[in-house]
Amino acid sequence: MKADLILLHPPSIFDFRERPILWGPINDLIPSTPVFEMYPIGFVSIASTLEKQGYRVRIVNLALRMLNSKSFDPERYIKKMQAEAFGIDLHWMPHVHGAVNLAKMCKRLHENVPVIMGGLSASYFHREILESLPEVDFVLRGDSTERPMVELMEAISGEGKLSDVPNLSYREGSRVVINPLSYVPDNLDDFRLDYEYMFRSIIKTRSLDALPFYEFLERPIMAVLTRKGCESNCIACGGSSYAYSRVCNRHSVALRRPEMVVEDILKIQEFNSPAFVLGDLAMGGEGYGRRVLELLRRERVDIPLVFEFFTPPPRGFIRELARSVGDFTIEMSPESGDPEVRAKIGRNYSNAQLEKMLRSAFSAGCRQFDLYFMIGLGGQTRESVDFTIKLARRLVEEYSHGRLIPFISPYAPFLDPGSIAFEHPELHGFVKYASSLMDHYSLLQNGLTWKDFLSYRTTHLSRDDIVNLSYDSALRLARIKAEARLITGEKLAEIERGIAISRQMIQLVEHHRTQGTLGEEQVGESLYELRERLMIDRRELDWSQGLRVKWMLSIFIKFLRSFLPGL
Ligand code: SF4
Repeated sequence: MKADLILLHPPSIFDFRERPILWGPINDLIPSTPVFEMYPIGFVSIASTLEKQGYRVRIVNLALRMLNSKSFDPERYIKKMQAEAFGIDLHWMPHVHGAVNLAKMCKRLHENVPVIMGGLSASYFHREILESLPEVDFVLRGDSTERPMVELMEAISGEGKLSDVPNLSYREGSRVVINPLSYVPDNLDDFRLDYEYMFRSIIKTRSLDALPFYEFLERPIMAVLTRKGCESNCIACGGSSYAYSRVCNRHSVALRRPEMVVEDILKIQEFNSPAFVLGDLAMGGEGYGRRVLELLRRERVDIPLVFEFFTPPPRGFIRELARSVGDFTIEMSPESGDPEVRAKIGRNYSNAQLEKMLRSAFSAGCRQFDLYFMIGLGGQTRESVDFTIKLARRLVEEYSHGRLIPFISPYAPFLDPGSIAFEHPELHGFVKYASSLMDHYSLLQNGLTWKDFLSYRTTHLSRDDIVNLSYDSALRLARIKAEARLITGEKLAEIERGIAISRQMIQLVEHHRTQGTLGEEQVGESLYELRERLMIDRRELDWSQGLRVKWMLSIFIKFLRSFLPGL
């Protein structure tokens, strides 16, 4: 495998196939498995930008390769690679173990090939990475590294100077040099997602290396980016205004032009895949979201679209949304049903406002409304969790005809670096167990269960409380959903069984740990059984239902066209 740059996506825990791990529900609400095999969309925009400049770039989803085949040997595979540089993402902190070990492996097998790290978490910990990991040569910081990456590649090949590359941190001898974080574009006109890239790459390399996540072919969903940065300051969010200004030097939100957003949706439509519109359209200032909707209306888009709202939108926005697209789902995270806790974590809307939004969404024809609640929030108590479940029950009973689907899961495993909660835990009801990069690494290295991985507790809830409340609440919610026929009786039984085993495993691990008798034989088999999503029916988060045949057909036609260009 020959390329100028090989972008490698690591699994969350590098040796996940060799050791027993009780993942618990940490991935229940995302498309990835607990290995977090979905790579950041920035990989595709970096690859497309470099290719336009004549570089040969490959994306290798190593996590997915390792997941797909137990016999796949990452060491042998990487050894065969020929590259001018390796790029490894450390965007989400749960990848810290995988990213560090992958960097070590790349350097051990290719001593003279530079290793570059990037992503939000790498940006936050850039100094520590360069000081404590000699295997990493460069860290590209910030939320927009496409152009800096071109300059870095030039510098690596001797056509430029490292000191001129914006956003770069590197070593000069034993000294860490930190270039200014100066490339922070105030618009996203340069950000282009080439949705064909993945398919071209599959054909070119005759491998599925670039697939974004495990179930992608079976349950496709493609992302559309509308913005970088956020105006809000939710306490535990690493993508908040506070975190972006500290970590990425971004002091205002960069929006993509509505025309580009709709162009992306139309490209996705060619694949007959649902599209997830990332970012709250109603928050881009007066007129931004309305312009996107106007363009969508003109284009008569007919794939399922998923929209997220951070807060109930202004009056009339949902009606306009319904007039503009045929099939839409809404995602919203009130986090807690208790308005006091919700306000404490930075979301300032009441349950009355939330319900008003539900009514207008369902009367406008919303296909599904997903509501996300979390366990482990600052200021949260058992009582407030109980209040949340009761609210969820009432809402399901009232709106089940409109498919209101509530979810509850722990806020796990880590507090987001750079978030307000991470920087000032004591002010916001959190107690932190991990501060440095390597603290987080150690939690994943030494832990066995998702309770061990938790990097925090709250002033009201211990780690045990977070675990027990997560299981209790998930069970209660699953029963509510079964009563409302949102999930089947069989699925409920499966969830009940999974949670019971999972609980027993945590107790067993604790018991053997206190006795000093913990070994793999006590836990291996049962943990393997618990790999499936624990607390939800994954079909609840499948927006591609009804589209699968068309989706497969579109892919087939794309492949045919690439072999027979006249088609
Ligand atoms: S969670 Fe809050 S701060 Fe984070 S992106 Fe959403 S609205 Fe912005």
